[in-house]
Amino acid sequence: MRNIALLVFGLALGSCGGRHPEGLPADTVLIHGKIAIVDDAFTVVEALAIRDGRVAAVGTTREIEALRGDRTRVIDLKGRTVLPGFYDSHLHVRADPPRSVDLGDARSVEGIQEKVRRKAEELGPGEWVTGWDWAEDDLQEKRRPTRLDLDAAAPDNPVTLTRAGGHSSIANSMALSIAGISRSTPDPPRGIIDKDENGEPTGWIRERAQTLLWDHVPEATETELRESLVRSLKELLKLGITSFNDAGVVVDYLTRFQDVYAEHGPELPRATLQVRLPRDEPVDEMLAVLKGIPFHTGLGNDRIKIGAIKLSVDGGYTGSAAYTLVPYKGRPDFYGSLFLKEAELTRLVREAHLRGWQLGVHTIGDGAIEIAVDAFARVLEESPRPNHRHYLNHMTVKPSEATLARIRALGLVVAQQPSFTYTLEGPYTDNLEGERLERVNPLASLSKLGIPVGLGNDNLPIGPLHSLYAAVARKGKSGRVFGADEAVTIQEAIRGYTRGSAYVTFDENVKGSLEPGMLADLVVLSEDILTIDPERILEIEVVSTMVGGDILWGGLEE
Ligand SMILES: [Zn+2]
Repeated sequence: MRNIALLVFGLALGSCGGRHPEGLPADTVLIHGKIAIVDDAFTVVEALAIRDGRVAAVGTTREIEALRGDRTRVIDLKGRTVLPGFYDSHLHVRADPPRSVDLGDARSVEGIQEKVRRKAEELGPGEWVTGWDWAEDDLQEKRRPTRLDLDAAAPDNPVTLTRAGGHSSIANSMALSIAGISRSTPDPPRGIIDKDENGEPTGWIRERAQTLLWDHVPEATETELRESLVRSLKELLKLGITSFNDAGVVVDYLTRFQDVYAEHGPELPRATLQVRLPRDEPVDEMLAVLKGIPFHTGLGNDRIKIGAIKLSVDGGYTGSAAYTLVPYKGRPDFYGSLFLKEAELTRLVREAHLRGWQLGVHTIGDGAIEIAVDAFARVLEESPRPNHRHYLNHMTVKPSEATLARIRALGLVVAQQPSFTYTLEGPYTDNLEGERLERVNPLASLSKLGIPVGLGNDNLPIGPLHSLYAAVARKGKSGRVFGADEAVTIQEAIRGYTRGSAYVTFDENVKGSLEPGMLADLVVLSEDILTIDPERILEIEVVSTMVGGDILWGGLEE
C-alpha cells in the first residue's frame, strides 16, 4: 500500500461537519411529505429540516416551517414518500476501460453480437473487445452466447464477455488462442475450462480460469479508469443509493478511489471499501499482502472509508461453483467449488482479526457457510473481540438451524441480496431442489433469530427496488414464488437496506435513519412504497437523491 493512501485517509479522519448552536435557521426544509425516518418505531413524519448536512429536526410541516430563515431552501414534497438513502451492503463499482461494452441491457444473443461488432469496428482488428453483465436468463434465446457467436461478430478481434456476477466469461476463438487455451489445457486451480463432447473448449471459462484471458487484455490508462469510476459512482445516485459497501477493491486500487473522492467526494455516494486480498495466490501470499497493509477497518471519513477484508470461500450458482453440503440437482457427485479450505480460511481470518480488521466472507453454498462459521468460531474462541461484526457476504443456501443458531451466538452479521431470488431463478431451479430451492436467500429465518442483516443487490441487477420487491414478494423474474414464508414486510426490507447495512459498516449512529443528528442522506420516491401493491414496487421511480443535504440527482420543485 502506498504511503499516500495512508496519509490522505488519515488526514481526512474526523472531518465531519461542525455543530451549530440551536435556533439557527435550517439550510433546507422538506415539507408536506410522507417521510419514513426508519427509527425503532418506523415513525412517519410530514417534514424535515436540514442544517450543515445533517437532519436538524423532524416533525409536522408547521413545526418545521418555524425553522425557516430568509435563505432556507424550501422543498414541497407534495405528498411524496421519502426514505433514508439506500445503503447497499454489497455491490461492485466498476471502472471500465474504453474497450469494454456494457451488456447489462442485452436482450438477445443477436443484440450482444451487434454491440461486439460495433466495438470491434471502432477499435480496429486485433484489439481486445471486453464486455460485462450479460445473463442468459435475459436473452430471448435463453442460452449463453457461444464462442461461435462471437467469432461471427468479430472474427478479427479477441473477445471476452463476462457474465453478470463475474463468475464466468465467454471467449471467442481468437481470444482462446491468444490465451493458449486449447483441448489440452487443464483446469487451473480454482477455475474451470468448459469443453464439449469432443474435448474442444466451448469458450465458456469459469471462475479463476478467467484470468488466463484477462492477463492478455491491455490495461486502460489510469485517467480512463478514473473517469469511468466517477461515471459509475454517479449512476448509483440515480438508483437512490447514497452509501455503498464495495465488495472488494484490491489494495493497489484503493488510491484510485481515494483520489476520485478527494476530487469529487461531495458529488458522490458515500463509500466503504472492502479490501480484497489477491484471490489466485497461495494463502501465504495472501497473508503477506495482509500483513503489509498499514491500517485496518474504519480508517477514513464520512465520504470514504476502509471496510472489511473480503475473502471468498466459494463461487456462485452462475458459475456452478457454490460449495454445498448436498450434491447439485441431477449431479450426484457434484458439490461445487471450494476456493479456501477451512485451515486456509482460519489462518487468514485469524491474522486479519488479530490485526483489528473486520471480515466479510463470501459464502453462497451451505458448505461454504459451514466452513466460514467454523473458522470464525475457532478464531473468536481463541481471541474474543466484542462488537467484531464479522459478516457473511451472501447466504444463498439456507444453512441448518444449528448453524443459524451458531451465527447468532457468534455475533455474525449477514450481507444478503434478495435480488438474487429475482434474477437467478434459472440457475437456482437448475441446481437446487426441494426445501433447499424454496429457502434460497432466506430473510425471515434470519430476522426471527435476531441475526443482523444488511441488504444489497450485488449488481444482479443493480438497484435497490429489485431487492425490496424480492424481499417482500419472494418472486423470481418469471413470477414463481420461492418459499413465501421467508418474505419480510416492506418496513423490514427498507430497514435492511438502510440501517441494516449501516450496522454492517459500524455506521448506524450516522447513517441509515433520518433521526435528528444523522447525515441528511435521503431519497424521494415517485410512489408510496409503504402502501403500494408489492407487485408495483418495480414501477417506483427515484425522483431525487440527496447526500449530506445536497441534491445530487433528480429534481424537486422548490
Ligand atoms: Zn459480489
